[in-house]
Amino acid sequence: MIALKALTYEQLAAQVEALGLERYRADQIVDWVYRKGAADFDAMTNVPAAQRQLLAATFDFSAMPEAAAQVSALDGTRKFLLRCRDGEGAETVLMPMDGHFTVCVSSQVGCRFACKFCVTARRGLVRNLDADEIVQQVLHARTFAGGLGLNIVFMGMGEPLDNFAAVVHAIRILTAPQLAMIGARRITVSTTGVPDRIRALAEEELRVKLALSLNATNDVDRKWLMPVSGRFPLSETLAAAAYFAERTGHHVTLEYVLLRGVNDRPEDVMRLRALGGPGTPFKLNVIPWNPDPRIRFERPDSATVAAFAAALEGAFRSVSVRWSKGVDIDAACGQLFGKVQDPPAQRAAG
Ligand code: SAH
Repeated sequence: MIALKALTYEQLAAQVEALGLERYRADQIVDWVYRKGAADFDAMTNVPAAQRQLLAATFDFSAMPEAAAQVSALDGTRKFLLRCRDGEGAETVLMPMDGHFTVCVSSQVGCRFACKFCVTARRGLVRNLDADEIVQQVLHARTFAGGLGLNIVFMGMGEPLDNFAAVVHAIRILTAPQLAMIGARRITVSTTGVPDRIRALAEEELRVKLALSLNATNDVDRKWLMPVSGRFPLSETLAAAAYFAERTGHHVTLEYVLLRGVNDRPEDVMRLRALGGPGTPFKLNVIPWNPDPRIRFERPDSATVAAFAAALEGAFRSVSVRWSKGVDIDAACGQLFGKVQDPPAQRAAG
C-alpha cells in the first residue's frame, strides 16, 4: 500500500496513470483530500465506484483518527493526538492568534536531543514520523481553522532536522500549489541546531523560515542545557544560521527559553548582546520557561522577563516575548509528551 498523503502531485498522477486511470482523476483525488477534507475514497462521489475500489486497494488513505483532544479554558488552544498506524501518537497544538491560527506540529515521537528543560526529552526518541504523518497533523488542524490562514511551526515533539528527509518532503506537500497550498513563508522550522543540516535545509530552496533554539550564551552552559546540540560550538551553529538567512533572505529567529537563575543573569544579557549586534540577521524570541513537575527549573517572574527582553533591545532585528498558550492543558512549548497523560494533580503527587 502506498501512503496517499506522502505523495507529491506528480507521484500521485504517475501512480494513477499506472493503474490505467485518466490523469485527471489525480486532480479529483487531491481536491477531495486537500480541499474537501474527505475521510476515505468512498467520499469521492465524482469518481466511479469501481475506480474508488481500485484506489482503496492501492493506496493507504492514511487517515489518522483523533485519539485524544483537549481545549484550553484560558485561550482556546486545542491539543490533539492523532493515532498512527502502529499505535504511536503524533501530538499537535492549534493556537488561535490574531486573525489566523498557528499549528505546532511534531516531527518525531519523543526526541533524542535530551534538552534538560524539555519534557519531550524524557521519552527519548521513540521513532521518526513519516511525511504523511506530519501532513495529516496540518490537515486535521486546518479543519478547525474556519477558513482562516494557517501558520505552521515545527515546534512540537522532536527535532525536525533529525528527521530531515521526511520533514522536507512534508513541507513540499504542504506548500505545493496543487496540494495543501500553504505559503512557505508561513512555515517555520525550529531546531536545536545541527550546523550542516541547517545549511542543507537552506539549500533545499523551500523558502521556509528558521528558528534556532539558542537558550544559552556560551558553549559550556549550552552543552549543559542541551547535551546533544551543545556539542557543536555556538560560533559554528550561529554561522550556519547566518548562512541560512543569507541564502534564503529571511531573518532567523533565535529562541531563548528563560530559566530563572540559570540563563537570565546580567552576564547572559551581556553575552547575548554580543551574539547579536549590527549586521547580524537575527531576531530574538524570549520564551519564559513552561513548568513541568518532573523538571526542576523555575520560570522567572514577569518583571524579570520584561527587564531581560528590554535589556536586549537594539541588539537584534526585533525582540519579542512568547508567553506560551495552552499551559493549562500541557500544550505549551516543551510540555508535549505524546501520550494521554494523567491529570497534573496526580502526577505531582506521584
Ligand atoms: N526540537 C526543536 C523544536 C521543538 S521545541 C527545537 O528545539 O527547536 C520548540 C521550542 O520550545 C524550542 O525553542 C525549545 O527550546 C522550547 N522549549 C522546550 N521546552 C520548553 C519549556 N519547558 N518551556 C518553554 N520553552 C521550551
